[in-house]
Amino acid sequence: MRKNIVAGNWKMNKSLQEGIELAKGLNEALAGETQNCDVVICTPYIHLASVTPLVDAAKIGVGAENCANKESGAYTGEISASMIASTGAKYVILGHSERRAYYHETAELLAEKVKLALANGLTPIFCIGEVLEEREAEKQNEVVYAQLAGSLFDLSVEDFSKIILAYEPVWAIGTGKTASAAQAQEIHSYIRSVVADKFGKEVAENTSILYGGSCKASNAKELFSNLDVDGGLIGGAALKVADFKGIIDAFNK
Ligand code: PEP
Repeated sequence: MRKNIVAGNWKMNKSLQEGIELAKGLNEALAGETQNCDVVICTPYIHLASVTPLVDAAKIGVGAENCANKESGAYTGEISASMIASTGAKYVILGHSERRAYYHETAELLAEKVKLALANGLTPIFCIGEVLEEREAEKQNEVVYAQLAGSLFDLSVEDFSKIILAYEPVWAIGTGKTASAAQAQEIHSYIRSVVADKFGKEVAENTSILYGGSCKASNAKELFSNLDVDGGLIGGAALKVADFKGIIDAFNK
C-alpha cells in the first residue's frame, strides 16, 4: 500500500541557526504524537549534516533540494548524491519547477540526477507540472506525460518503485492559488494511469503522488482526501512549525 507523505521544501530560506531551530521545533511538536503520514523536510545543503542527527529518524526524514548530475570530480560548487547520503539524508527533490525554469534543467539532465540519487540510496521526490499557459491550453496531461517519459521511463520497474512523484502546477506555487480538489484528483489519476501503462498496475498503486502548490492547513484536508492525492510537497507553509504541523494533522482523523 502506498504511503501518505507530507514533505517540506525550505528552498533558499533560513540561516543554519534558524534551520536548526525549525527542525528542533518540528521534532518537538511531533514527539509523542501518532502520525498518519511520513514526514520529510528538504533543506538547503548546508543544513543537512546538522539537521539530520537532531530529528527522530523514525518520525522525520531529511532530504536535499537538488543534487549534481555527476558522481564526483572537478565540478566546482556542485554537491553529489553520495555527499548528500553521507550526511544521513534519505531524500532529494529533483525536477522542481524552479530548477527547470531558472537553471534550465532538462529532462535528460534530470534523468542523470535521478539515476545517481537512486544509485546512492536516496529517494527522489520527482516534481512535474504545467505552467499557466499550458493549463489554459488544456495541455497539462501532455506536459506531465513528457516530463515523466523524458526523465523516468528508462528506469527499471525496481528503480521506479523507489520514486515519489509530486504534481505541482507551476501557477499554484507560491502564488496563493491552489488547484481545486477536483483538478488535483483528475490529474493525479491521469499520472497514476501513465505509471500503470508503463510500469504496471501494482507499481502505480504503490506510487505516492504528492500535490504541491500553495497547500496549507486550511486546504490540505480537502486536497488529501482525494483517492489519488497521497500527501503534499509544501513550500511556504513548511517554514513555520505550526503551519507545517497543521498540514501533517490533515491526515489525523
Ligand atoms: C513548492 O515550491 O514545492 C511549493 C509547493 O511551494 P508553495 O507551497 O509555497 O506553493
